[in-house]
Amino acid sequence: MVVENYKEVLENVKKAALKAGRDPKDITVLAVSKTKPNEMIEELYNEGVREFGENYVQELATKMETLPKDIQWHMIGHLQRNKIKYIIENVKMIHSVDSLRLAKAISDEAVKRGVNMDILLEVNVALEENKFGFKVEEVEEALKEIAKLPNICVKGLMTSAPYVSNAEENRQYFKRLNKLLVDINDKNIDNVCMSVLSMGMTNDYLVAIEEGATHVRVGTAIFGERNYNK
Ligand SMILES: *Cc1c(COP(=O)(O)O)cnc(C)c1O
Repeated sequence: MVVENYKEVLENVKKAALKAGRDPKDITVLAVSKTKPNEMIEELYNEGVREFGENYVQELATKMETLPKDIQWHMIGHLQRNKIKYIIENVKMIHSVDSLRLAKAISDEAVKRGVNMDILLEVNVALEENKFGFKVEEVEEALKEIAKLPNICVKGLMTSAPYVSNAEENRQYFKRLNKLLVDINDKNIDNVCMSVLSMGMTNDYLVAIEEGATHVRVGTAIFGERNYNK
């Protein structure tokens, strides 16, 4: 089932990309496997899928340990500074850097271990109260500081748009994030050249692709509804 679902998502991604005049190869689908068992991940792995997204450090650390080592894990959930150490050596990119303090802590840990870490800055474009992330107008200043930190590289921006029944309502936020990335790149800040836009989830990834998403994070459409009560 998950394999069929995944293929359907890929097909939709391709259609949306072509409709927007983009190359489907420029869009990475992250299979968001939080709360889902290893068996489901392995089904996709056996079909060649390698990029997965997870939200919770404990769960991610366990999955990293038990699943094949060539999986590329993306940390997409809120990260506490004292938990960086559990994932930093095995995660491909941290999408959810939502403060300067967290960026500094990641840099420190990366230096300590002699690794380099790719990160995205999470932006709360829609100003939702219950969400983490920089405000749009805070990003440039934070970026100037973060760009000076060793062993850390800001690859781009990430957002989670509100949960809405009509994905069109979120188009404005995806447009805004894309514009923010372009505007900041235009300023030629030292060590800043961002190319990643991580935006779009099950409900709105097609709109996000039309607005320039390079990474879509799709959970429910691949793995089915999540049950948090187990
Ligand atoms: C859970 C989650 C997703 C996937 O959401 P779906 O609606 O199930 O596709 C994507 N991004 C983040 C940050 C998430 O927490």
